[in-house]
Amino acid sequence: MNIVLLGAPGAGKGTQAAKLVEEFSTPHISTGDMLRAAVAAGTELGQKAKSYMDAGDLVPDDVIIGLVTERLQDDDTAAGFILDGFPRTLAQAVALDAELSKLGRPLDAALLIDVDPEVIVRRLTSRRMCKDCGYIGTVADVTCPKCGGEMYQRDDDNEATVRNRLDVYEKSTAPLIDYYRGCDLLVSIDGDRDPNVVYADVKKALALFCETYDENDTQEQWFDKLKAVAAALGYAPEVKLYKQSPERYPGHVGDVSMFVRIALTGRSSSPDMYEIMQILGRERTLARLNDCPV
Ligand code: AMP
Repeated sequence: MNIVLLGAPGAGKGTQAAKLVEEFSTPHISTGDMLRAAVAAGTELGQKAKSYMDAGDLVPDDVIIGLVTERLQDDDTAAGFILDGFPRTLAQAVALDAELSKLGRPLDAALLIDVDPEVIVRRLTSRRMCKDCGYIGTVADVTCPKCGGEMYQRDDDNEATVRNRLDVYEKSTAPLIDYYRGCDLLVSIDGDRDPNVVYADVKKALALFCETYDENDTQEQWFDKLKAVAAALGYAPEVKLYKQSPERYPGHVGDVSMFVRIALTGRSSSPDMYEIMQILGRERTLARLNDCPV
């Protein structure tokens, strides 16, 4: 899975990424974590980034693009990656696309964890992190419930900085929602719920985008997945079964084939599921679909 996590600071991207890492061992590339490590180590990058981070402003694009581009060259990202906190500007998104197309590893999905800004202010000002394992907890966690380490408050989790970070998000990062929607990669998930409930939706969305077809699926399960993909993309799927003549689809064995048509609201025509798969760029799945038993 090659995914980016989108969402305002404090929406729960880090929490969801940690769950994905625990379950799938996919490398988690958090630019915020990388920058904090650079600040703690006192490197040149850290010195450059610190004042921006303390104010809640964005570190300049060229600095952060270089950092991520370099990280994506590492072998461990070949099987997939979770980008968290990057891209945060249109320039970063365009640079990421260029780099991934050079590497031949396009994105599978952009998952937006959507949370109301006022909820975020309350969340972030009471957020605490573990110094040792990075566990994300709340002010109620005196010590880390995972490893017993010391909990601390990030310098940029005070209210004034949080509000500035939210303003910066609205101005610079929120436009990426439309950008990824335009690429048919966006899935929006309500992040104002228990993290485990959010995670269940995250996994559902990823399964749809990354492993759409499972050869053990019955035809009904497969159709349900297609409908769910259309719904995840914001379309209203409406399923009808059609009888098709074998003359029209000569590849099919038997007298009659059943097809599902999914109406995409807001489009002039109603493409069938073949077209939906093309929209999703899932030609490999399409090829296998022809073998679907009818
Ligand atoms: P985060 O932990 O993702 O909230 O990031 C903390 C801070 O690091 C941000 O407020 C920015 O100052 C900086 N930062 C992290 N990622 C980026 C990025 N992609 N572009 C610019 N600045 C970033």
